[in-house]
Amino acid sequence: MPSVAILGSTGSIGKSTLSVLEELPDYQVQSLAANGDWKTILEQAVKWKPARVALADPAAAKELASRIPAGIEVLSGAEAIRGLASDPAAEIVVAAITGAAGLPAAVAAVSAGKRLALANKEAMVMAGPILTAGAVETGATILPIDSEHSAVFQAMRAGAFEEIRRIILTASGGPFRDWPKEKLAAATPEEALRHPTWQMGAKITIDSATMMNKALEVIEARWLFSLDPSKISVVVHPQSIVHSMVEFHDASTIAQLGYPDMCVPIRYALTWPRRAPTTRGFLDLTKSHRLDFLPPDTDRFPALTLGFEAARRGGTAGAALNGANEAAVALFLDRKIPFPKIAALSASALAAHPFLPSPSLDDLFRTDAWARAFVAENRVG
Ligand code: MG
Repeated sequence: MPSVAILGSTGSIGKSTLSVLEELPDYQVQSLAANGDWKTILEQAVKWKPARVALADPAAAKELASRIPAGIEVLSGAEAIRGLASDPAAEIVVAAITGAAGLPAAVAAVSAGKRLALANKEAMVMAGPILTAGAVETGATILPIDSEHSAVFQAMRAGAFEEIRRIILTASGGPFRDWPKEKLAAATPEEALRHPTWQMGAKITIDSATMMNKALEVIEARWLFSLDPSKISVVVHPQSIVHSMVEFHDASTIAQLGYPDMCVPIRYALTWPRRAPTTRGFLDLTKSHRLDFLPPDTDRFPALTLGFEAARRGGTAGAALNGANEAAVALFLDRKIPFPKIAALSASALAAHPFLPSPSLDDLFRTDAWARAFVAENRVG
């Protein structure tokens, strides 16, 4: 009976993971972890009866501990969440904590040789070489919970690695796909949070609007699949039905299709190399569908080029770009900076940061902190 640790259980991916597990009766929830939403995690714990539950926020953990049913252990703090990632009782770790905050748990899961179902793309963006080398060493398996990377991973099974000419990541283009540049300058958080095809958390939805999400996914793909950045391309596909493609050197392109629903990549990461049956979400192409593809506009969405640059440079570039973007997204959501400034500050931080070609994990956290401080200092002007 595979046992699962869900880190980030109260967020969008965590909730979808639990809904996928409703259809996988052989699987057992070993532990749940979140930041501070004790009410939601309490409901989840009552229903799923995990052995352990952890909250990063100690005050919230106290609230939870006073209400948790007998037999469930409550832990508190970031160190406890890392502990759940390496807990011998959990075979599969779903890493769904958003942002750089999720990296320590992802590293812990890899060090412990787990199957890591990785929704936290920022971990791969910051520390791709450390995670992939670590997995080789410990026998850990890293499976993507990102619709594009799951699609590539599935399509790759159609040929040998050496036969891949390139991969094509699809991007919805986000809520501002058709907005002129002048209008983007005045875009509000409410407008940026209105994603046309995907229901997701706030951070990734803003990343979708700037196309920084695709930039991060280029870096993620570069490390996850050991692909030279010259073999990664991006195409805008507004309907979000084709989740990505692999082009082989015999001019065959293999695509994975489905409705925009994270349950599909989550289910595949949990059950790979098997495919578990489900009762819902099947694509119905007898209904009228259009599948459009167009080139990305890097003039209106300059963040995308930063992803290719960071993927080529490697080293601390991903951590600098990611840290700056996270800080800038928070400022935008707080109405402290205008929308185009997210990409502008990220570009400046990437260009100015003290680059290291082969950083340690500590170097990456220092780079992350440096980039956040840079954004705070340069947000005006
Ligand atoms: Mg994605």
